[in-house]
Amino acid sequence: MNVLVLNCGSSSIKYQLLNMDAEPILLAKGIVEKIGLTYGSFTYKPEGKEKVVLEQPIADHSVGMDLILKALVDPKNGVLKSLEEINAVGHRVAHGGEYFSESVRVDEETKAKIKALAEIAPLHNPANLKGIETMEQLLPSVPQVAVFDTSFHQTLPKKAFIYGIPYEFYEKYGVRRYGFHGTSHKFVAEKACRLLGWNVAEKKIITCHLGNGASITAIDRGQSVDTSMGFTPVAGLVMGTRAGDLDLGALLYICEKEGLDLNQANTLVNKKSGVQGISGVSSDFRELTTASEAGNERAQLALDVFVYNVKKYIGAYAAVLNGVDLVIFTGGIGENDQPVRQAVCRDMDYLGIRIDEELNMATKSKDVILSTDDAATKVMVITTDEELVIAMDTMRLSR
Ligand code: ADP
Repeated sequence: MNVLVLNCGSSSIKYQLLNMDAEPILLAKGIVEKIGLTYGSFTYKPEGKEKVVLEQPIADHSVGMDLILKALVDPKNGVLKSLEEINAVGHRVAHGGEYFSESVRVDEETKAKIKALAEIAPLHNPANLKGIETMEQLLPSVPQVAVFDTSFHQTLPKKAFIYGIPYEFYEKYGVRRYGFHGTSHKFVAEKACRLLGWNVAEKKIITCHLGNGASITAIDRGQSVDTSMGFTPVAGLVMGTRAGDLDLGALLYICEKEGLDLNQANTLVNKKSGVQGISGVSSDFRELTTASEAGNERAQLALDVFVYNVKKYIGAYAAVLNGVDLVIFTGGIGENDQPVRQAVCRDMDYLGIRIDEELNMATKSKDVILSTDDAATKVMVITTDEELVIAMDTMRLSR
């Protein structure tokens, strides 16, 4: 069975085609970028062959998807003989609200709910829905599945998801903590337990998904019980360009002083803040490290703030869980940035966290146990694969 996995953003489409007959095999992947702009680009990488890049205007999502499908069956670089070899399509959908606690087969009702949720996820859900509708037109007889970033966190207890604001805003507008990156948190927790020979249903796990967007989740015996992102993905950790937890009074004060309207305030906390805002250098941790090594103090400060935040959440979630068996690092930073992992794990012996620093420094993008044998709490690096989760759910639900 071949599954096409799509992640549609407002101006981009990331895609992977996987064969799921036995062990999943990646057949091709790529990205359509700058949809709707004067200069668009299309990247297609068939497994084992050279990458193909096309620069051309891409008017809308439907043109972008058409390019993807044509590339997949292209006589020279394609990986399929015909589009009939695509057996199912899986879509990453940002917001499932309180409707979806698991992945679902797409039908009219699913689409109506994704559309209704565009109200609280205006940047993502409309693009996700467009992806689904376009695929319905292009491949009308192929089953489609929606996999939500929020669904794993639907097990949060009410005390963890209700904000300290008038309750009517939860009732009227659904303002509450939802949490994101759910597919990744669930995937790495289960994978780590499999590798350790543990039963996830017996363990207390803290998963740190540290990428451009970053979030931490407390998982109690397989269920998400708290997570650092909230109503939107701007909450929690200081991220690449997102502010994370912020005194609301500070935001109001800045808006007043700088005369910012809602749009500008939104841009400030989502695009101009985080380690980018603190350092003035970059949102990319590799560039921050280079700058800090060259003596840039604000780059070092941004890294210190990030590490400090991760530590605080681990401490908080150890309290929530009444202890912790396993801490997992994943995402671009979690998998690759050894100094960040080292700094987070330093002086955490009260939690039973002690890592082999040499092993940590040698570990990049692979599944490894970093904790020392005598440490009470296991610490692991686990590589995440959100597309694989989407493909697996899609296969299960479209059969
Ligand atoms: P997202 O999927 O949220 O866009 P990623 O999970 O790809 O983000 O993570 C991107 C971040 O990971 C960037 O800050 C980047 O600097 C960091 N990163 C990637 N590779 C490395 C590396 N080798 N060393 C340090 N940081 C890295």
